[in-house]
Amino acid sequence: MKSILITGGLGFIGSNFIKHIFNKYDYHIHNVDLKTYAANHNNISEEINQSGRYSLSICDINDTDRLRNLIQKNNINYIVNFAAESHVDNSINDSTPFIQTNINGTHSLLNLLHDCPSIERYLQVSTDEVYGSLTEEDDAFTENTPLQANSPYSASKASADLLCRSFYETFDYPILITRCSNNYGPNQHEEKLIPLMIKNAKAEKKLPVYGDGKNIRDWIHVSDHCSGIDAVLHGGKIGEVYNIGGKNEVRNIDIVKTILKLLGKDESQIEFVKDRLGHDWRYAIDNSKIQNELNWFPSLNFKEGLQELI
Ligand code: NAD
Repeated sequence: MKSILITGGLGFIGSNFIKHIFNKYDYHIHNVDLKTYAANHNNISEEINQSGRYSLSICDINDTDRLRNLIQKNNINYIVNFAAESHVDNSINDSTPFIQTNINGTHSLLNLLHDCPSIERYLQVSTDEVYGSLTEEDDAFTENTPLQANSPYSASKASADLLCRSFYETFDYPILITRCSNNYGPNQHEEKLIPLMIKNAKAEKKLPVYGDGKNIRDWIHVSDHCSGIDAVLHGGKIGEVYNIGGKNEVRNIDIVKTILKLLGKDESQIEFVKDRLGHDWRYAIDNSKIQNELNWFPSLNFKEGLQELI
């Protein structure tokens, strides 16, 4: 039986990925999570908890000794690193935890590759935000778009990507990187746009929208992100970067209006608030590489996914 170490598996995407792996493979799943404010034990189902194929360690990815021991004792084959500080607004308020987890934490995991030869593949879960911002006329990000991170969050993720690249180039370790667009779906923390808007709309509260709400994001359902990571983990070419996106560009204000409509509410709850500092204008992902090389395609329709989530 293969063993996979998933970091940050009590968070949004990590917990969905655990479910995906649990349902598709007979791997033993080791979840390593520091249990920050973003973690939620309820994100892991009773079925998985009781399966005998899942174990959880509350542990910092910077705790190299403990992780080395865990990997060597359990002969771990794969590492997928989701663990991160993930909210841009928090990185504007205080970037220190972003440096500690996103950069130092990734570096600590990479250092484990020096003495854990059982690792066949290490996959770094990154973001399209490392590419910076697009105008409406620009072509979508490809894997060759230069890194031009604008927020402390995206800069910390870009730094981690460069460390991954350097460990592949220098030591020839089996490293892959995925860069995905904005995710939505079950288990997402209420600080993020879509769950916040759904929660506030239902509670008859104001729906705070940054600036004029015209910023564009390329939305993907978390289950499509998970199947994309699976495709890259098992079939991607070592040392390569793969973009993953939903081919679904939507303005923030249109998401808010759609949520209100799906809930049968009018638009009077919308409140425009002072724009986020350094707010990126537009993200859009060119999926050609993962589609052509790994035959992966996003499968979920945004409006249907949103309706189901609500
Ligand atoms: P999240 O904030 O929901 O979850 C992060 C998890 O990491 C939490 O459970 C937290 O406890 C854990 N964690 C934080 N610091 C840790 C540490 N030092 N050691 C161990 N665990 C730690 O984040 P998410 O939205 O699920 O994002 C997961 C990954 O996907 C991140 O790397 C993020 O950059 C990337 N990503 C997210 C999106 C998105 O739209 N949410 C899009 C593309 C990429």
